[in-house]
Amino acid sequence: MQGYIDCHCHISAEDFDSDIDDVIQESKKAGLVALLAVAEHAGEFEKIIQLSQRFPGFVIPCLGVHPVQDPAQPRGALLEDLDAALPLIYKYKDDIVAIGEVGLDFTPRVVNNDAGKDSQRQVLIRQAEIAKMLNLPLNVHSRSAGRPTIHLLKELGVENALLHAFDGKPSVAMEGVKAGYFFSIPPSIVRSDQQKLVKQVPLESMCLETDAPALGPEKQVRNVPRNISISAEYIAKIKGVPLEKVMEVTTQNALRLFPKLKAFIKA
Ligand SMILES: [Zn+2]
Repeated sequence: MQGYIDCHCHISAEDFDSDIDDVIQESKKAGLVALLAVAEHAGEFEKIIQLSQRFPGFVIPCLGVHPVQDPAQPRGALLEDLDAALPLIYKYKDDIVAIGEVGLDFTPRVVNNDAGKDSQRQVLIRQAEIAKMLNLPLNVHSRSAGRPTIHLLKELGVENALLHAFDGKPSVAMEGVKAGYFFSIPPSIVRSDQQKLVKQVPLESMCLETDAPALGPEKQVRNVPRNISISAEYIAKIKGVPLEKVMEVTTQNALRLFPKLKAFIKA
C-alpha cells in the first residue's frame, strides 16, 4: 500500500466543522490513504461514525473515553462518561479498528490527587478489558504518565497498543517496544525535546500521527492531517533513511497493529 496512515487525529473536532471537505481533500493530495479518527468522550461517537460514512474507507473510527474530560464537569464525570460510552462501543464494534483515545494523564493541572488518578486507571482498565474481549488494539494517550501507562498496560496483559505522542523517557518507551507496542510521532516533534525517542525507538515499532488539530509544527496554529509528511520527514532525517522507507514501514506497521484497517481501506 502506497501512502501515509495518520494513526491518531481528531477530525471530529469543531475546528474542522467549516472546511472538512477541503481538509480531507488536501489530506488525500498529500499522500494519506487513511486517518484514524479517535474520540475523547461518548458525546462525540455518533459524529465520528457519521464522518466515517461520509468519507468511507478514509476516515476510520476509534471509539473510547479520554482521561481528560471537560473541567467544567463535576467530579466523577469520567466514570459517568464511560457508562455512556460502553453501549455505544458495543453498538459500533464492527465499525471501529481500535478502542481510543484511552490512557492516563497525570499533568498536575489535570489531576492533583490519588483519587483522580485512580479513576483514570479504572477507566483505562475497563476499556482494556473491552478491547481484549472485542479483540481490538488500544489507541493510547499518556502525558506525564509514560511509565505508569506502560506498566499498567503490561500488567493488564495488553498485547496491541499504540502509544501516541509519548512524552516519557526513551528507556521507558523501550519497555513498551519490548512488549510489542508501537509509538506514533506527531508533527510537533520538530519543536519538542523528544528527539531521543525517535532515535531510540526502532522504525519497526513506529507509526505516524498528527493529533490534528493539536500538536502541529507551530504552536497555536491549527494542525491538519496533511502535515503527516512533517513527521515522516523528521523521522527520515533522524534515522538517516529515505522518506519512502519511512512511509512504507510505518504504513506496514499500522496495518499490522490495526488488522481490520486493510479491509476498511479497500472497501
Ligand atoms: Zn489525541
